Amino acid sequence: MATEERPSICFVCHECDALQQVSAIKPGNTVNCLCCGSKLFSNPVNGIEKPLALIVAAAILFIVANVYPVMTINIAGIERAATLTDSAMIFIELGRPELAAMVWIPGVLIPGFIIFGLFYILFSIRFNLALPYTRPLLVWASRLLPWAMMDVFLLGVLVALVKLVALASVFLGPGFYAFVVLVLAYAAATASLEPHTLWQALGEQSDGQREACCER
Ligand SMILES: [Zn+2]
Repeated sequence: MATEERPSICFVCHECDALQQVSAIKPGNTVNCLCCGSKLFSNPVNGIEKPLALIVAAAILFIVANVYPVMTINIAGIERAATLTDSAMIFIELGRPELAAMVWIPGVLIPGFIIFGLFYILFSIRFNLALPYTRPLLVWASRLLPWAMMDVFLLGVLVALVKLVALASVFLGPGFYAFVVLVLAYAAATASLEPHTLWQALGEQSDGQREACCER
C-alpha cells in the first residue's frame, strides 16, 4: 500500500449498501467492500491511456461517418447520396420531425457529445492540463451514456438497406463502413472506462492546482 497520504472518498457498496471511507488507490489495484467483500471499484493499469486511444479512434471514425455518405441510392437514374444526418432529415421531408429527432439525437448528437466530451476530459488528465469544465462534462457524459444508441441506429440503417435493395440500386459509402467500426470502437472505449479512475485523476489534478496556487 502507498505510504503517502492519498485522498479518501465515501463510497456506497452496490451489493449491501454499506457506506465506507475509501482511500484513492494506485493503478492495478482493486478495492473490495469491507462488509460483503464484493468489488467496489478498480484502478486499471493504463486506465487513462487505453480509453484515450480508443476515444481518439472513435472521434476520427465519427467525423468520417458523418462527413461521407452512408449510402448512395439510385432510383430510375436519379442518384442521391445520404450521410447519417441526411438519413434522419428524410423524416423532416416526410413531415415527421419528431421521428427525425428520435433518430438523430441518440444516433448522432449524444454519441458525438460523449465522444468529444470524453476526449476533452481524458486529454486534460493525460497531459495534466487541468482544462476547465471537465467535471460538469464528466457528469453529463455519464448521465447521457445510456441514451447513446448508435448500435440501434446501425440496426435501423441495415433494416432500411434490406428494404431499399428491393426497390432501388443501393451502394454503400465510406460513411457506412466507418460507422460500423465506430460502433465497435465506441463500445470498446466506453467499456474500458472506469469512472472512478477519472474522478480520482480529476481530484488529484485540482489538488495539484490548489498546491501550486498556495506556493505562489
Ligand atoms: Zn458490500
